[in-house]
Amino acid sequence: MKFGGTSVADPEAIDRLIGIVRRHIEANLKAATAPVVVVSALAGVTDSLVAIAQLAEEGAGDRAAAELKALLERHVVVATAITTESRARVLADVRQEFEELAGLVHALAVLREVSPRSRDAMLASGELVSSRIVAAALADHSIPSAWVDARTVLVTDAEHTGAAPDMDETGERARERLAPVVAQGKVAVLGGFIGATANGITSTLGRGGSDYSAAIFGACLDADEIQIWTDVDGMLTADPRIVPQPRLVRQLSFAEASELAYFGAKVLHPSTILPAVAKNIPVRILNSRRPENPGTRITADGGPEAGGLTAIACKRDVTVIDITSTRMLMAHGFLRRLFEVFERFKTAVDVVTTSEVSVSVTVDDTRRLDGILDNLHNFAEASCEPEMAIICAVGENLRADPTLFGRAVTALERIPLRLVSQAASRRNITFVLRDSDVPHAMMRLHETFF
Ligand code: ASP
Ligand code: MG
Repeated sequence: MKFGGTSVADPEAIDRLIGIVRRHIEANLKAATAPVVVVSALAGVTDSLVAIAQLAEEGAGDRAAAELKALLERHVVVATAITTESRARVLADVRQEFEELAGLVHALAVLREVSPRSRDAMLASGELVSSRIVAAALADHSIPSAWVDARTVLVTDAEHTGAAPDMDETGERARERLAPVVAQGKVAVLGGFIGATANGITSTLGRGGSDYSAAIFGACLDADEIQIWTDVDGMLTADPRIVPQPRLVRQLSFAEASELAYFGAKVLHPSTILPAVAKNIPVRILNSRRPENPGTRITADGGPEAGGLTAIACKRDVTVIDITSTRMLMAHGFLRRLFEVFERFKTAVDVVTTSEVSVSVTVDDTRRLDGILDNLHNFAEASCEPEMAIICAVGENLRADPTLFGRAVTALERIPLRLVSQAASRRNITFVLRDSDVPHAMMRLHETFF
């Protein structure tokens, strides 16, 4: 069970967490195993630590120290409110962590240098203290728990600020250090996001890495399910800012989640749950403010959701580039030359459609557009059209039901489509159209399919 920053933000949130863990244990009494709990830093804390690192880099040691003091105070208030018997011990732990952090920050401010390795040591403090507080709070609410230093379990490479797990080593450590706690019926509580290299140097998995930690621990322990507790109900059939009252997507496949995440359905980043999906462990997104809701379940194969699409998503304000070359017609190497231009200008291409003589692509980063067009002009005609958008309709059913494509196009009726693409995987249909048509188009599609 992973709880994000907003689900441990304050004493009320931690109280809800305790209720969720308690209900889970009571509902699974026969299984006689306890859940493993992975927590993020309290909401906003990692951002504050990033800002403090910045101050240290600028040599503003005094301001960094003042900010740290405020952070310490926040943790003291939360820990004091949510604990009883464990209060003195957890407060001592929190103070000690911050004292070490203050020493580190002072040294970095003197040097005016924060290396990736130092940054990891700083940022890890957020999860180290939040996990200690949650472990103590559970115990004080009569849920047997044990704090486990995630750095003794999650072994990573030395790519600081974006380290990759060593799954074999982590698996062994998880069986050694976590499995026995679980077997005793105790809730093991660990900080997400953090680990250590084989030499024991603190590392982090990159921002937002707690989901990744949860998937890693879940996979290593062969968990029945991985729950991501957050502050929304789950994945929705469309962005609520564009389509009023979208529905909750109850089940979807990992591949569908990946397609949607790309279009900004940011509930969780699918690459972070890869270890779970590789082991076929379902991942569930749940709302810690509304724990009775079913949430969204992500599995390798998706759900038996009868007929229809799974969700629609869009990406606003993209630019279409049309590239035509009669000279290069049917010449091999044309696409390579063309895409080399985008590579040279470090610009990602999103949608691609081709005909015999022309290729159309979309980009959302237009900072290097002039250079790209200049280079393309060496061997092709190229023109661009700004203020376009991509709409992506996603559903495993597109494969089996050929009528879905027709229904989608029919729903869009008179809305002019610039590009249409359906990949061989047939898991999504992509439309490129004028940005100003997006609200209307999304509503039409949503009405038709949901
Ligand atoms: N606290 C870390 C961050 O904010 C990790 C996480 O929340 O997943 O990036
Ligand atoms: Mg966070």
